[in-house]
Amino acid sequence: MARITKLEDIVSLCKRRGFIYQSSEIYGGLASCYDYGPLGVELKRNVRDAWWKRVVRMRDDVVGLDCSIFMHPLVWKASGHADKFADLVTVCKKCNTRTRVDHLTDHVEEHTEHVAIETAMADAQNLDKKVCPACQTVGRFTEPMAFKLMFETQMGANVDDTMTLFLRPETAQGIFVNFRNVLDSTRVKVPFGIAQIGKSFRNEVTTKAFIFRTREFEQAELEFFCEPGTDEEWYEHWKQARFDWYLNLGIKKENLRFRDHDPDELAHYAKACVDVEYKFPFGSGDWQELEGIANRTDFDLRQHQRGMRTLNSWYETKGDLGSIKLKEEAEDYHKGPLSFFDEQAKRRYIPYVIEPSAGIDRSTLAFLVDAYDEEEVRGETRNLLRFHPELAPTKVAVFPLVKKDGLPEIARNISDDLKKHFTCFYDQKGAVGRRYRRQDEAGTPFCITVDGQTKEDNTVTVRDRDSMEQIRVGTDGLKAYLLEKLGI
Ligand code: ATP
Repeated sequence: MARITKLEDIVSLCKRRGFIYQSSEIYGGLASCYDYGPLGVELKRNVRDAWWKRVVRMRDDVVGLDCSIFMHPLVWKASGHADKFADLVTVCKKCNTRTRVDHLTDHVEEHTEHVAIETAMADAQNLDKKVCPACQTVGRFTEPMAFKLMFETQMGANVDDTMTLFLRPETAQGIFVNFRNVLDSTRVKVPFGIAQIGKSFRNEVTTKAFIFRTREFEQAELEFFCEPGTDEEWYEHWKQARFDWYLNLGIKKENLRFRDHDPDELAHYAKACVDVEYKFPFGSGDWQELEGIANRTDFDLRQHQRGMRTLNSWYETKGDLGSIKLKEEAEDYHKGPLSFFDEQAKRRYIPYVIEPSAGIDRSTLAFLVDAYDEEEVRGETRNLLRFHPELAPTKVAVFPLVKKDGLPEIARNISDDLKKHFTCFYDQKGAVGRRYRRQDEAGTPFCITVDGQTKEDNTVTVRDRDSMEQIRVGTDGLKAYLLEKLGI
């Protein structure tokens, strides 16, 4: 029960302190859309940067990419999204609420892949025992039907050349369609990965729990291409690397776990799939997916080779995706345009792909929840966010103890100097105790106070957010001290 209250506390703190607001709030809000405020934008940027640093910059075998959101419609035919990216839904006959069939349980389950319509179909046989999550009526549901999740839009100004496009529902396909470009324009060789962070869009049936599931969200995806036969090793490698990423950024071990997909949950082409799950404080305090890691075999590249062969039909049918049939694979598909030639082994093949796919918003929520803490200090409740220094939106706050005696000028100079190295916030308003509390709530690891003694011996107090301990540090060595403590 305590954990349910905790999400409400977080939503309230996020609004109060400028982390996250409801979108278009002055117009009554737009369901399932959120805006990141001044602290939130820094936090989210730090989450994104921490992913990019570990997945791309600190490795020799991964390169980055930033694709456009709009892509050729045939991409989505080849990937399977145009035909299959749908949730099986049903409508409650009593209250008219539309719900995902796989969400119709006593407590919301998050486990079924969108593409696993067949699995959901099997579940749908027993709808008469299911409860409507909105009005609690049992067993009064319409026949389940597929609900398409991709947003459509029109591109082009002229009536004749207007084309229906989709807002991408994942960033991964942009990587697959650039596989050849990256091979030809860089010195990468299999095994190697291509990473991308960007917005994705899904017209989700049920949205819930703040930024956990929204219709516009940001994904961080890696497609790691490897030789068939080495895929199981790379799968294990990425499984561990991604789990450790969360732990190293401060997520408590007891709140993180792996959940292997059951064979009947796996997409037909996937050899293995595991979710990294976090114990989110909603629903019944259930474990929920943070990230999926899948062994996708050579499915995607082979599908895009088929897509390339289908291009003529695309023109013939004037782009009607519904009537286009994807061409069969060439017999020697393994030598196709999206194959890789291993010069040492003198062998050509389509690489297998290991895909860690994470949500930036969803992990931002997990970092917020995990960092949130309340403690009693001298009869008062102290709310704080114990962010890992790398994620903290503001690294250091600088205060003059009082607004006179030249202290603000000294504090400003210190703050201006530190700003060259990390985010630093200057504040001279109100009692110093309240200024500390505000920074605790923002998750700022260190506060520096300039006081009368500073003028005498050039030292300032440095207060640690977590222990509230204060020590005096010389202004000369302050920057080095903070950089070391922050580990950045
Ligand atoms: P679900 O079954 O929960 O709808 P999924 O298994 O289809 O999700 P993936 O397609 O594997 O999700 O997406 C990879 C990651 O992208 C997820 O683990 C999650 O972190 C993030 N993600 C997916 N959909 C959303 C969404 N609607 N809002 C926020 N993040 C999302």
